[in-house]
Amino acid sequence: MKILFVQLPVQEPSFEGTRSNVPLAAGYLAAWAEKCGLLSRDEWRILPRTIVDYASDRGLVEAIASAFADKVAAGESGAPDLVAFSLYLWNLERSAWLATELEKVLPRARLIAGGPEVVHGMPIFSRSPFHALIEGEGELPFARLLDDIRRGKPLEKSYRAEGDLDLVELPNPYLEGIIPFEADIPVHIETMRGCPANCGYCYYGKNFHGVRRMKREDVYRVVERAGKEGVSELYLMDPSFQATEDLPERLIALAKANSAGLSIHAELRLESINEEVGRLYAAAGLASAEVGLQTMNAKALDAVGRRWDRKSFERGAEILAKNRVTVKTGLILGLPFDGYEDVIATLDFLGMTGLGQDAELYPLSLLPGTLVREKADDWGMTRMDRPPYWVTSTDWISQDDISDAIAAFEDGFDVEWTAPPAPHFREFENGYRAFVDARREENLDWIRLNPAKLAHSVTFLVDADNPEGMARLARVARDLKRDNPFALYQIVLRSDSRVPGEKLVLRLADAFAYRDHYYELSRYFSLDPQAGYQTRMFFATRNPSLAYRAMEEAQDLETCLVVGGKGGFNADRLAEQLPFVIFDRDALPFDRLYELLMIYTDFRHMLVEAPEELWT
Ligand code: SF4
Repeated sequence: MKILFVQLPVQEPSFEGTRSNVPLAAGYLAAWAEKCGLLSRDEWRILPRTIVDYASDRGLVEAIASAFADKVAAGESGAPDLVAFSLYLWNLERSAWLATELEKVLPRARLIAGGPEVVHGMPIFSRSPFHALIEGEGELPFARLLDDIRRGKPLEKSYRAEGDLDLVELPNPYLEGIIPFEADIPVHIETMRGCPANCGYCYYGKNFHGVRRMKREDVYRVVERAGKEGVSELYLMDPSFQATEDLPERLIALAKANSAGLSIHAELRLESINEEVGRLYAAAGLASAEVGLQTMNAKALDAVGRRWDRKSFERGAEILAKNRVTVKTGLILGLPFDGYEDVIATLDFLGMTGLGQDAELYPLSLLPGTLVREKADDWGMTRMDRPPYWVTSTDWISQDDISDAIAAFEDGFDVEWTAPPAPHFREFENGYRAFVDARREENLDWIRLNPAKLAHSVTFLVDADNPEGMARLARVARDLKRDNPFALYQIVLRSDSRVPGEKLVLRLADAFAYRDHYYELSRYFSLDPQAGYQTRMFFATRNPSLAYRAMEEAQDLETCLVVGGKGGFNADRLAEQLPFVIFDRDALPFDRLYELLMIYTDFRHMLVEAPEELWT
């Protein structure tokens, strides 16, 4: 049998989100199946991150279809017999599209899926492109499914765990060599599964009966090995790491294992922290703690089954700050009984306690299988039908109020709720074409003929003074959307003589747009004047006065000032207007480069490197 596991990343124009795409669930499934004697090491693979995190949709179809190409020499097929997808909010629709395409090219392969998106009552059950779905904790039902295949039995439509897996028996995928330690990729570990809380907006706890723990020694061995392998960050995936009676002992053991000083990130309840525990967390390497406050409004918290104790929350925050642990306070917008004034009161509280700048604000997601989803109509919640399933208004807060609350958050703490996407000018990302100079017709011909060689985020550079060139690119969009419907596009219109006209910009943006893309919807409340995110329009010019005019007049475009090799820019004007800046590090005199970096200290994502010759 040949099995391929696929976990698609959060797509971002910069490919940044790919660092966190660790296939932990697949690792556990494979480790358990091997332990049960249902699979041997050469029977399965995880689609490598050099492919899964960069390839276009069509590139993924081709890579999956030939994932075992090295076996062809031995007379076997290069195609997998079974493809197993991990489904999350951010990859559900793209994974489903891939499954539909794979069915056409691999008619004999079985396609299965599991993960938090697989919950009864969700459309995935009624319109599933998969042959079988795995619900809840995956290891036991996956083993049952493999057993069915081995016995030649037809697959059931869905598999669900009957009983709890003893986690002490579950091998760790890092220690088994299934997931590699890589210096630049954070290690993800679970020390437990299940959660003692029962928050009305969360499905996680419902998958498990009570809290169960992994083998303690395994956890410490992973931390030790990660340190030796040069890994610098570690994410504890536990929803409430502190939910244990012997927390001090665990933290002391963690500190011992973490002699290399990895930065640890975890989710905690601040109310549980006292002076001693705070010191122990810091000694163990805790660098940041995500803490869920959600709101200060007691009625809203009560409605979703949460409690909050202000005094112990403040004390916990103070202790962690004293120990140099960053506290990332989570707030939810759109909770029942929580109006605009309540949100502002919560933001004020964060301001007073110094927690505002690192806070994280999320609109309420009506996740599959949760209480809030069940009661959404009672609470007058309008919402998105697709992931991220955000509430867009409730009986207590309007859509505009949610946007205003986000604006208040940004203004109050001088932060950006979502960073604006930037173009990129590296021709290839891990072998996939990520930048195309669309001013050359042969480049457009190439992408038409090679849709599988594109990356999932592509920047096009086009001459805004050449209407025929722009029309040509718009025509190519039709083919691109058919082959790669989930790609992200950044379209850079270049001119030194005029700001591109509104109609032209709109026509090109529309040609590429996919309004229901997860990336687009996850920017729904953004206050940015440019509506599109999945397709982002830029205007690039070497002419500073034209750039500043475009910033004032053309709200449908992000302006990029191209700073040439002589580094001719007015630093004061630049600091005042803060356009994107495109520059060539090798061509810019050092003093000008230094000045640029200083001006953009807090806005590094707005400095974009590109070879000088692109603009000459
Ligand atoms: S939100 Fe966190 S604390 Fe609440 S039930 Fe889910 S996992 Fe537990």
